[in-house]
Amino acid sequence: MRKTIIAGNWKMNMNHKEAEELAKGIVERVADVTDVEIAVCPTFTSLCTVYDVIRDTNVSLGAQNMHWEEKGAFTGEISANMLLTLGCNYVILGHSERRTYFSETDDIIALKVKSSIESGLTPIVCIGETRKERERGITEKVVETQFRGAFGELSSEMFDGTIIAYEPVWAIGTGLTATTEQAQEVHAFIRKLLKEMFGTDVAEKTRIQYGGSMKPSNARELLHEPDIDGGLIGGASLDVESFNGIIRAS
Ligand code: PEP
Repeated sequence: MRKTIIAGNWKMNMNHKEAEELAKGIVERVADVTDVEIAVCPTFTSLCTVYDVIRDTNVSLGAQNMHWEEKGAFTGEISANMLLTLGCNYVILGHSERRTYFSETDDIIALKVKSSIESGLTPIVCIGETRKERERGITEKVVETQFRGAFGELSSEMFDGTIIAYEPVWAIGTGLTATTEQAQEVHAFIRKLLKEMFGTDVAEKTRIQYGGSMKPSNARELLHEPDIDGGLIGGASLDVESFNGIIRAS
């Protein structure tokens, strides 16, 4: 049985004071939740402050990116160990905004995935097609390329525990959501890839989140699909009631 995981990707929003308030609101509102794993992923500058709020609660901490090297002359970058020692359990990798605006390739994402796992962080690895790619009928091809690109070098043992977020790029921050059928179809395809690459046990254990304009009003339907094991939430995670609504819907 896969435990549902709902994670909030706060992107480049909230200074550390605002982040502290949001984290306090979330912690208070979801304190009674036991059957859903909950995580928030603020900006680097808010990690410390938010950790002080969520420590010893049922909410975990994640980051939105990291560098693959342990340390060194990489001005402006942050390593997995730095995130771990700040209290992070998770790190989002390969988000479409990083692929689009910061030229992250599958090779770079693969390095980051490996480094995060070796350091003890759980990566949440985002894959998904653009609108044009869906219209051209190459969704599965794109998803498979990103999947093999990110995980191709990993053994089953190493991969085990990794979380995948299927995020159709056309649904991110647009208000457009994949239909339950569209989402379930791709999630089932990803599970098939997992089976081929890492075997049935790992495939059955691996959680695949859906991301793309998830909100309280569409979360229930999506999260009840057999291969959708949670949500990666952008916009709706910045509002306590919306984030809580999604958690309750699951
Ligand atoms: C995201 O950026 O991961 C995301 C899913 O954003 P939104 O929920 O705003 O579409």
